[in-house]
Amino acid sequence: MTSEDPKPEGQPGEFQAALRGLCPQCGEKTLFAGFADFAPKCSNCGLDYGQFNVGDGPTVFLTMGIGTLAVLLGLWVHFTFEPPLWLLAVLLTPLILGSTLYGLRISKGWLLQAEYWRKAKPANTKDVIHPDHDRGES
Ligand SMILES: [Zn+2]
Repeated sequence: MTSEDPKPEGQPGEFQAALRGLCPQCGEKTLFAGFADFAPKCSNCGLDYGQFNVGDGPTVFLTMGIGTLAVLLGLWVHFTFEPPLWLLAVLLTPLILGSTLYGLRISKGWLLQAEYWRKAKPANTKDVIHPDHDRGES
């Protein structure tokens, strides 16, 4: 592992690990308990997944991005092929639901991998530099 590549030895890349739901510490497929819900901890190495603060951050971006693409695709299909609206709804609904849910699983897994590999944690008072700290130095 180098400073530019935080990937642990023997692990696939962040995106591959997220796609496969791998534990960032041991590489076993234990990250998810449900479709997009993290397991409480790794059943192989005991890594506590609850310590990571992934939250629902990716949800807004996924919903807005996929919604925009779906509207553009719907408009293109509507004006190009002129299908009935019910057919457009039948075609786009599973595409929107599937890409949003699967995208949520991948993006949450990706964020957790990134947090683990970069040792991200919430800042505390020791991380804040006092404004007078650098005066007179260097
Ligand atoms: Zn593990």
